[in-house]
Amino acid sequence: MKEISLVVPMYNEEEMIPLFFEEINKVLNKLVDYKFEIVCVNDGSKDNTLSLLKKKRQEQSNIHIVSFSRNFGHESAVAAGIKAARGEAVIVMDADLQDPPKLIPELINKWEEGYQVVNAKRVDRKKDSWMKRNTAAAFYKVISKLSGKTKIPENVGNYRLLDRVVVDQVNLLKEKNRVFRVMVPYVGYKVIDVEFKREERPKGKTHYNYKSMFTLAGNSITSASIIPLKWSFKLGIFLTCLFSVLFVADITLWVISNFINWPLDVIPYDTLAIIFSMFLCLGILLFFIGILCEYVGRIMIETQDRPIYYVDEDIKAD
Ligand code: UDP
Ligand code: MG
Repeated sequence: MKEISLVVPMYNEEEMIPLFFEEINKVLNKLVDYKFEIVCVNDGSKDNTLSLLKKKRQEQSNIHIVSFSRNFGHESAVAAGIKAARGEAVIVMDADLQDPPKLIPELINKWEEGYQVVNAKRVDRKKDSWMKRNTAAAFYKVISKLSGKTKIPENVGNYRLLDRVVVDQVNLLKEKNRVFRVMVPYVGYKVIDVEFKREERPKGKTHYNYKSMFTLAGNSITSASIIPLKWSFKLGIFLTCLFSVLFVADITLWVISNFINWPLDVIPYDTLAIIFSMFLCLGILLFFIGILCEYVGRIMIETQDRPIYYVDEDIKAD
């Protein structure tokens, strides 16, 4: 019998745990041709998530608990989960039922058809706020421009099924700046999308605010591409050419106005314009130094080579 692992990162999800297992078991119990292992990664929860998981583990022996020494973040939890998973296929999903368990049979069917990555793709974002919808759309536009040959699918979060081959390849990627939704498309293989409507969280609250969304966007971009580092080079060439032309034009006009005695106004060098240009140049410079720092900071993290999580307890499934 084929075994499939579910990987579920959990941070302060005590309210969701009973509901999650109720819903997931309903779906898994119908899939009698497969054996399931549920890898729950407790990402340093401060509430009763771990004790509830342990209690559940006593009733249900297919639960594998990986518990971190502290909160390391969603990406670290996913990384630990897919490393611990032993199934022939691995499904990564959130604990809050926003990734609907009822989609699992469809993900498995596509896998059985021979697809090695089955993405769950959101079809509507009507329930998201205007701001979230538009920042997400802008993010996908930018990342698809920057990621080159790696096609990062739009509106696909972490919810997806990976074949063992893909899981092994993702596990082999060494980077510390791990963004699951960038790493999976990077390794490639046969991919298909399955569409679904994302529901609202029934209990608990989101751990992502706008600041963490921007951090994720920054991590995704620096993980997917080095193109932003080349922008300053291109802009530098453009500005140098532009100002050279303006300078030559200005000198020419000055020469004409002096020698032919033709009263032409050359470019107005008033103080305000000079101050404005200085601040503009400073802004542009700081912007590009900022981009550089984003990459340099990550080089530092990669060279430090610290583990991205520490496991405190590891209770395996039977
Ligand atoms: N999560 C985690 N570590 C964190 C933050 C979140 O493991 O530091 C888990 C969380 O328990 C949930 C999943 O990651 O299972 C997605 O989090 P959330 O629902 O808050 O994100 P959203 O759906 O709002 O993007
Ligand atoms: Mg959620």
